[in-house]
Amino acid sequence: MTAFSQLGATIAERVLHIRQSLPPSVRLIAISKQMPASAIREAYAAGVRDFGESRVQEAEEKRSQLQDLPDITWHLIGHLQANKVQKALEIFQWIHSVDSLKLAERLNRLAAPLPQKPSICLQVKLLPDPNKYGWEVADLLTDLPHLDTFEHLEIVGLMTILPLGLSDTEIFNTFDQTHTLANKIAQENWQRIRMNELSMGMSNDYSMAVQAGATMIRLGRILFGDRPI
Ligand SMILES: *Cc1c(COP(=O)(O)O)cnc(C)c1O
Repeated sequence: MTAFSQLGATIAERVLHIRQSLPPSVRLIAISKQMPASAIREAYAAGVRDFGESRVQEAEEKRSQLQDLPDITWHLIGHLQANKVQKALEIFQWIHSVDSLKLAERLNRLAAPLPQKPSICLQVKLLPDPNKYGWEVADLLTDLPHLDTFEHLEIVGLMTILPLGLSDTEIFNTFDQTHTLANKIAQENWQRIRMNELSMGMSNDYSMAVQAGATMIRLGRILFGDRPI
């Protein structure tokens, strides 16, 4: 029996099982990329209201199939291309994957007329990883004063994705360093930037992320099963 099946046979059982193991303050974001709207309905029925998608168009299609569930909060977790920013702002209340000053600038400009500011996490790479988007720490620190001027964004924290192949100790330490970085940033005197949220932890590493202070975990396979590709 795999660890996955021990968590329960249905999406609802897995949701409840994981929920029970988490501190109540941790927000569980169900990553429904490549999963059908019916899977979202099952997780919704088990109480999940936060769903994450990595592609704007896929999220748009699912959202239109789920109009009867208006209290879903949609989170974008994948790299956002400049030409999709407008559409992304229409769909997602949260964007975890803001990975450059240029993207933040565009989001700020296009968010200006919106009734509600989008909640933004700054995606940071604590370890070098050529396959991932995100700021290196030194570059993020350089860009913070400019990011702090974006009045149409709610910058609320950091997001990180770890490179593959780390040991458990390295995983914990890297999450812990992300937490330390957020604390360091929070201590500076920003006008707008806040550092209340740490979006970190996926199916394989979420328990270490929670130990290291994650406030939002992003779980896909452990809830929905393996993705088609
Ligand atoms: C796919 C994805 C997840 C979920 O990963 P699982 O291993 O399926 O839990 C979380 N965060 C990001 C940024 C992802 O792209």
